[in-house]
Amino acid sequence: MADYILAIDQGTTSSRAIIFDKKGSIIATGQKEHEQILPKAGWVEHDASEIWRNVQEVIGLALSRADLTRHDIAAVGITNQRETAVVWDKTTGKPAYNAIVWQDTRTQDIVDRLAADGGVERFKPVVGLPLATYFSGTKIAWILENVDGAREKAEAGDLIFGTTDSWVLWNLTGGVDGGVHVTDVTNASRTMFMDLETLEWRDDILEAFGVPRSMMPEIRSSSEVYGAAEDSSLLRETPIAGILGDQQAATFGQAAFQKGESKNTYGTGCFLIFNTGEEIVHSKNGLLTTVGYKLGDQPTHYALEGSIAVTGSLIQWLRDQLGIISSAPEVEELAEKVEDNGGVYIVPAFSGLFAPYWRPDARGAIVGLTRYANKNHIARAALEAVAFQTRDVLDAVNADAGVDLTELKVDGGMVANDALMQFQADVLGVPVVRPVVAETTALGAAYAAGLAVGFWNGVDDLSANWQEDKRWEPSMEEAERDRQLRLWRKAITKSMDWVD
Ligand code: ADP
Repeated sequence: MADYILAIDQGTTSSRAIIFDKKGSIIATGQKEHEQILPKAGWVEHDASEIWRNVQEVIGLALSRADLTRHDIAAVGITNQRETAVVWDKTTGKPAYNAIVWQDTRTQDIVDRLAADGGVERFKPVVGLPLATYFSGTKIAWILENVDGAREKAEAGDLIFGTTDSWVLWNLTGGVDGGVHVTDVTNASRTMFMDLETLEWRDDILEAFGVPRSMMPEIRSSSEVYGAAEDSSLLRETPIAGILGDQQAATFGQAAFQKGESKNTYGTGCFLIFNTGEEIVHSKNGLLTTVGYKLGDQPTHYALEGSIAVTGSLIQWLRDQLGIISSAPEVEELAEKVEDNGGVYIVPAFSGLFAPYWRPDARGAIVGLTRYANKNHIARAALEAVAFQTRDVLDAVNADAGVDLTELKVDGGMVANDALMQFQADVLGVPVVRPVVAETTALGAAYAAGLAVGFWNGVDDLSANWQEDKRWEPSMEEAERDRQLRLWRKAITKSMDWVD
C-alpha cells in the first residue's frame, strides 16, 4: 500500500492540503487563502468556485513539495468549515449564489419566523440545535427565498445543497459528469435537518424550512470509501474515504475517542468538544448536541459542543479594522508590554453571542476604559476575551457532564500564542496541553480516511501517535481569578443590554 494519506482542509480563511505519514507527521503542506466577501454588516460570503480552484491548487502544491504522486497516496480525507452553505446547479456545476458562511447573520428574520411557532428550541430534541443563523438550514432557505429562479430550479431537481465537504467531494469525483453527492453524519448534524437518532433527514423539518428533500446530499459515515477522484484530477483513482466537519476532525486528530475526553480549537472562532460516547446528551447549559464521529457501520459517537463565534477573528479585527497590529502574532508583543489589562474588558459579540448564551441581539463592548488605557491593554484584553469565553463554555460542559475536566487539550492557529495559553490555564485553573501535531483538523480527516482503507488498523494505532508538545500549568491566585471572572461577567451583561 502507498505510504501516505492526503487531507484536504477546507477552512474559513483558507484551504489546505496536508500529506501525512503513518506516524501522523506532516510531510508537506499547500495552503491558499480565499476572499472574505463582506457585502453588508453581518453578511459573510465565499466564492465557492474560488474555493474549488484553490483546493485543486493546494493539492498540487502539497504533492510537488513532497515530491510525491497519486501513487503514493493511499486515500484522501476531507475536513471543512461546517455550516457554510453552498447551493449549486448540478447540470452546470455553477453555484446559484456565493457560499453563505457560518458567521453570517442575515437569516435572523427566518429564525424569528420559524421560532414564532414553538420557540427557538422547537427542533432541539430531534436535531440537538436551537434555531440560530449559525446553522446551514436557514442559509439554504434564504437562497431559495431571495435568489431569482432558485426555488423553481430546486423544485425541478437541478439545484443541490452541500457544505463545503460535499462541494469539494462532488467536484473531485467528476462534478457534472457523475459527481458523488454525499455528506457525513457530522456535517449533516449541523444543518438542523438530521435526526440525531436515526441519522436521516427529517421531512417535517425540511418542510418547515421550505427546503426540497431532493437538494440534500446522502448522509454517510465519517469513514468509508465515498468514491474515487476523477480522471483529470492529480489524484485520479485515489479513494476519498473520510469526511469530518472541522471541529469533529480536530477531536479525532487529538485522539479524544473515549467518552469524557475533550479538546478546544482556537481558530477564527473557538470550539470546545466533549465526547459523550454512544449517548445523546441534551444540554441544560447552552451547549449543542452533535455527532462526534461514526466509523463505517460501527456505533455513532456523540458530543456536546460549546461554539464561540469570535476569537481569532477578534485578532484579525485589531489588525484590519483598528490597525493596531500588522500581523496576528504581534498581538502577543503588545500584550506583554503591560502587566495586566488595565481594567479593560472586550466582549467580541460581533455576531451576537453563541454558547453558552445564544443571544443574537448582543453586540460587541469594550468596557472599563480610562485615560490610562492604551493599545497594549486593548491587545491584552482581546487575548483575555478568548480565554474568558472558553471558561464560560467549560463551566457549561462541567455542569452538563456532572464532573470537572481535569485538563484541556488544545489546537488551532492561536495556540502558537504563549501568553494566551498561559492566561487560559490561569483562568481555567487546570493545565492546558498542546500536542506535537497542532494541525489536528487535517490529521483527523487523514485518520478517518486511513482507517477506511486499512492504512491504520484501528483507533489504538492513532492514540499511539498522540504526543505532548507543551503544557501550561495554572499559576494565578484563586482570589485574582475570581475577581477577573466577576468583571468579565459584568462586561458580558453590558453586551447583552445593547438593544435599540
Ligand atoms: P481557521 O481554521 O478558523 O481558518 P486557524 O486555526 O488557521 O483558523 O487560525 C487562524 C486564526 O488565529 C486567525 O483568526 C488569526 O487571527 C489567529 N492567530 C494566528 N496566529 C496568532 C497568534 N500568534 N496570536 C493570536 N492569534 C493568532
